[in-house]
Amino acid sequence: MTEPIVEQVDILIVGAGPVGMTLHLALAAGGQKSLLLDRRPPQAQQGDPRALALSQGARQLLEQLDAWPARAATAIETIHVSQKGGFGRTVIDRADYDLPALGYVVRYRDLAAALAANLAADAVLSETEIIDITPGDEHVIVTLRYDGQLRILQTQLLVHAEGTPGDDPAVKVSDYEQYAVICEVTPTPGHNKRAWERFTPEGPLALLPLGNEYSVVFTLPPARADAVMAMDDAAFTAALQAQFGQRMTFGKPGPRGRFPLALRMRDTLVKGNEVWIGNTAQTLHPVSGQGFNLGIRDARQLAEILLENGVDRDPQGVRRWDRSLENYAASRRLDRQGSAFFTDQIVRTFSNDFGPLKLARGLGLLALDLCPPARHFVAKRMIWGARAWP
Ligand SMILES: Cc1cc2nc3c(=O)[nH]c(=O)nc-3n(C[C@H](O)[C@H](O)[C@H](O)COP(=O)(O)OP(=O)(O)OC[C@H]3O[C@@H](n4cnc5c(N)ncnc54)[C@H](O)[C@@H]3O)c2cc1C
Repeated sequence: MTEPIVEQVDILIVGAGPVGMTLHLALAAGGQKSLLLDRRPPQAQQGDPRALALSQGARQLLEQLDAWPARAATAIETIHVSQKGGFGRTVIDRADYDLPALGYVVRYRDLAAALAANLAADAVLSETEIIDITPGDEHVIVTLRYDGQLRILQTQLLVHAEGTPGDDPAVKVSDYEQYAVICEVTPTPGHNKRAWERFTPEGPLALLPLGNEYSVVFTLPPARADAVMAMDDAAFTAALQAQFGQRMTFGKPGPRGRFPLALRMRDTLVKGNEVWIGNTAQTLHPVSGQGFNLGIRDARQLAEILLENGVDRDPQGVRRWDRSLENYAASRRLDRQGSAFFTDQIVRTFSNDFGPLKLARGLGLLALDLCPPARHFVAKRMIWGARAWP
């Protein structure tokens, strides 16, 4: 039997999800080649039921890469924040920020398709199984099976963008014991580009305007999530209505999907010649819509650092990017920890029915409503992320 040939790849990106594809395209825009690989076929992403709220910053970067799904995106002009069974509410309005929108809602599948449309035919090895990863001082050797063949890739940098990690001692997990049940429903009257964030003792309920529909993220304890998944359409809309109230009615629910929710933080972003970005670096609760927005900033910053330094070596034989990768990890700390902390605090403060906390929440929402600087602080984090990054 002939030995597989060892192929050289400057940068290998594992995971052709939205974050991996963004990195690949950002590198390509600067003239740097990279290879993507994914264990799934490309069309698998078309089955993903999620809708994502994207920030202005994410839109700008996607536009620069010619991957902004303009026709599939719905602008959010106002966000109404309230709590079920308690006083206090606030409205965040795009007009206060002199922006065309507070953010945009896009289906995961449309985002993935817009990014994939810019990939060269040989940019991705799909349906690839990684058999072994051997880190080394100079390279990482990746053994994989693609199209029934064993292949060995030797890469200068292995970027992990595999999405939410499974059990891994390098990842600290804090389980929310909640599931997100997601579904699209048709509201009456129309949504008028308003998003709703409603805090209930079971967990937050978010409604995001998407075309003529609302994309619903219904956060529930596991047993309730099971029950809601099993309901017929009439019972489901009644359950949704009970959490939301009667300000509008919902009909025509689409297929439902369910995601377990936990905060997962990787302890290190850089190890030797390996880097972690996107959900595999940090997976957040979807309540504040930060996950992909954070991941795309990982991709942007890593691409900038790699393009600035190149993949070659200086005259002394030292790889130019070694120091920069350490800087990369340090430079992402505030954004990822700030976003994780902000999101975690919202979930923990609002997902309970404890009387004094309910009062404090009401007062907090009232204060946000009456105090524009406090409201702007929260709004800017929702629009730009933890560093108010443009
Ligand atoms: C219900 C819900 C709502 C959300 N709402 C928002 C929102 O409003 N705004 C927001 O910004 N974020 C939101 N998020 C988070 C967002 O979905 C993620 O942050 C984003 O999808 C992460 O992209 P990614 O490319 O890192 O990972 P993924 O989208 O998970 O893609 C990872 C890719 O890697 C591939 N892969 C995995 N393992 C391997 C392997 N071993 N070998 C090869 N390939 C592999 C997978 O097949 C996949 O294609 C939400 C999440 C959920 C669950």
